[in-house]
Amino acid sequence: MTSCSKVPITGRRQFNVVPGQMISEMSLTSYQDFLSQNPPIPESNKNTQQVKRVGQKIAQAVEEYLIHNGQQDKVSAYKWEFNLVESPEVNAWCLPGGKVVVYTGILPLTKDDAGLAVVMGHEIAHAVANHGGERMSQQLAVVLGGVSLDIALQQKPAQTRELFNMAYGIGSTLGTLAYSRTHEYEADKLGMVFMAMAGYEPERAVSFWEEMAAIPGQAPPELLSTHPSSQNRIKELRNYIPNARIYLKKQ
Ligand SMILES: [Zn+2]
Repeated sequence: MTSCSKVPITGRRQFNVVPGQMISEMSLTSYQDFLSQNPPIPESNKNTQQVKRVGQKIAQAVEEYLIHNGQQDKVSAYKWEFNLVESPEVNAWCLPGGKVVVYTGILPLTKDDAGLAVVMGHEIAHAVANHGGERMSQQLAVVLGGVSLDIALQQKPAQTRELFNMAYGIGSTLGTLAYSRTHEYEADKLGMVFMAMAGYEPERAVSFWEEMAAIPGQAPPELLSTHPSSQNRIKELRNYIPNARIYLKKQ
């Protein structure tokens, strides 16, 4: 079980043994289940239009990035979809393969297109950097003790499926997991680059997280996970602005 891949932009090496194709298939099933229980708000709605508009710009930025970095083969792995669902939860997520869901509860915080680009850029970055696959690979190594994924699937399909659900935070609700600190910082940076490539000022990420940090009460699991602490996160984001600005597309 030795397989290593590189995360785009940051270049960090990650342990990855789960084929992308398999993850995409598992994701699609979970995504369809979720949408059948949480019907998306129709396109006639202004907020839905905003989600689709911003999402498509970021998706285009991701594709451009992959093409310019010799990873054209990865572009076809994404069949982008952007949905808005009615929920008071402050949440959004992107499953592997480019299935993005935004909850209406976050819109009062994102306010404008650029604010929404911060959140969607961040969530899409988790997917592009394959953070779920990395987590699943790590858990496979621990739980299944180093057997190959093929053997694991043949012998323990239910357990493998369970690991997938854990890695992607799929349970009674989707996308409720808290990522590791490494993954959060990485998604912040990649997200900033993608939003800049999509034409949004990366500074907006700093003001968005500052406003999020100022909200009293319990933080939602993914977007406001307890680590990294808000202060460190904002500091890192601010430090990264000059790098992200290199990618800024002039509108
Ligand atoms: Zn995150």
